[in-house]
Amino acid sequence: MDSNYGIKIWSDDNFIIEDGLAKINYDCKPSLISIVKDVRKQDFKGPLLLRFPHITEKQINTLYNTFNASIREYDYKGSFNAVFPLKVNQLPNFIHPLINCGKIFNYGLEAGSKAELIIAMTYNNIGAPITVNGFKDKEMIHLCFIAKNMGHNITIIIEGLNELEMIIEVLNETKLVCPNIGLRVRLHSGGSGMWAKSGGINSKFGLTSTEILEAFELMEDNNIVNHLTMIHFHIGSAMNSIKPLKKALRESGHIYAELKNLGAKNLTSINIGGGLAVEYSAYERTRFYSLSEFANDVIFTIKDIAKQKGVEEPNIFTESGRFISASATVLVAPVLELFSAEYELDHLNLKEANPPLIQELYDLYRDMSQKTAYEFMHDSIDHMESLLTLFDLGYIDLQDRSNAEILTHQIIKKAISFLEVDGYEELKKLDENIQEKYLVNFSLFQSLPDYWGIDQEFPIMPITHLDKKPTRSASLWDITCDSDGELPFDLKKPLYLHDVNLNEEDYFLGFFNVGAYQDTLGMKHNLFSHPTEVNVVFKDGKVVLEKILESQKIIDILEDIDYDTDEIKNILKGRLQEDIYKDLEKYLNENSYLKTIWSYYE
Ligand SMILES: *Cc1c(COP(=O)(O)O)cnc(C)c1O
Repeated sequence: MDSNYGIKIWSDDNFIIEDGLAKINYDCKPSLISIVKDVRKQDFKGPLLLRFPHITEKQINTLYNTFNASIREYDYKGSFNAVFPLKVNQLPNFIHPLINCGKIFNYGLEAGSKAELIIAMTYNNIGAPITVNGFKDKEMIHLCFIAKNMGHNITIIIEGLNELEMIIEVLNETKLVCPNIGLRVRLHSGGSGMWAKSGGINSKFGLTSTEILEAFELMEDNNIVNHLTMIHFHIGSAMNSIKPLKKALRESGHIYAELKNLGAKNLTSINIGGGLAVEYSAYERTRFYSLSEFANDVIFTIKDIAKQKGVEEPNIFTESGRFISASATVLVAPVLELFSAEYELDHLNLKEANPPLIQELYDLYRDMSQKTAYEFMHDSIDHMESLLTLFDLGYIDLQDRSNAEILTHQIIKKAISFLEVDGYEELKKLDENIQEKYLVNFSLFQSLPDYWGIDQEFPIMPITHLDKKPTRSASLWDITCDSDGELPFDLKKPLYLHDVNLNEEDYFLGFFNVGAYQDTLGMKHNLFSHPTEVNVVFKDGKVVLEKILESQKIIDILEDIDYDTDEIKNILKGRLQEDIYKDLEKYLNENSYLKTIWSYYE
């Protein structure tokens, strides 16, 4: 990690460091801390999800502009189209601005379940495409027909022959106009990235070549070939290389051309799914292509196949979700406690006569110099271990033990201040015994579920103090009672944070690129629910906080998991004096995140 937390690698210029503060690189360039303070002034404490619709808009513009540039460059005859896959983030505060700023491009939505389809049917701009993926039953297919009836430009992408049979049944039973039909193809070329299971011959989804031919025949027999408009594939999320995509393009391009030549005259589109990667690492680049390379490869490959087989150049559809949404949301969470804060020197209470090892610890502390720092620190850790053994055997008392702990921590701190020379090479040599543990007011299970589930990294950076050198190797603890709620210090990808005194100042950590998948994958472990969220928009050169949505109240969380909340209130009320119950009731109507000491004074 460089001293700027790798911001050049992951932030795509959305955020910058200026005057020691993390700032939004847009319009009046406010600092994140100024926004956090504004929200907290309105009495919303605890972790905050900040959404930035201007970043969503930037991503949509970039996607369309880059593809349209490639289309011009290669004189490509098809058009570029895109939909946002709702599973990546369905929340209204994210979706409403997305639909709004996508309007000029005719940007649409992709749905993978009935509930997502209802969102698309209700809010998608009429005429903008809707694609429907995933496993479907007859009800879901009927819903697609209803959407078509509302005037939506909807394509049912079938995953298996049974879905086509259901389409024919619904068509015959309802006599409604038939939506467009797409075929998801099962590629023999596998995907890339962590989610490669989405593509490839053993994939969960799509039709084999035999099934494609059968589907075509079935459509011919039922006179619906003219509704076949799209070939679809999705090779998996977070592609780190472009190579598997090229293979998939060739394979699906040929399938498109063959079906055209068989007589699918309205087959006009290839949908290349999602999978555009986002940079999550603060240490090195993990995505090995640019968006324009990606677009050029798509356009060039498909053009080449169309020419080879003598068919028209198809329209291109994409369903990239992570690329559109990840960078538009930032989680900001207050640090509640530094573990070693209990070891301040003024708690030291040496006796007249101390055990010899403790006297030695004191001497190490007093006599340490830059030269001896490393060695003394290790000696102190050895002494500490011996002293703990002596305590277990009954040879030293609790006061001695407390003194030993304080002295050892102070020695480590002093050593760090000697060793914080240029770069982190010296600090890096320090072993794992001396990390500082930061207790952070958030739930990892709720807010970074992919870290817990699949070891997904996220960029982490304090939002203040950025003009000072961070000197503590940090591990982060969340406030759940689960030992998995930890981001441990990793020597290969070390996180250094500042040594702060939380009695004197606040310290907030930003977790970046959390806008894709985290919002709805998050779980209510320990009944911590969604953090308070707010949309940060810019009007006339000023920041406006829109749509503040407070983290759920305790009573509502209990209702969500189907407790009878009247019963809860009645039972509690019945067992308490009225004035005591009043206090309790106040707490029922607050959210369950912790209040920092500071929030009592603010
Ligand atoms: C999940 C999914 C996407 C979105 O993938 P990203 O990696 O977020 O771009 C697109 N299409 C389909 C069919 C999906 O299942």
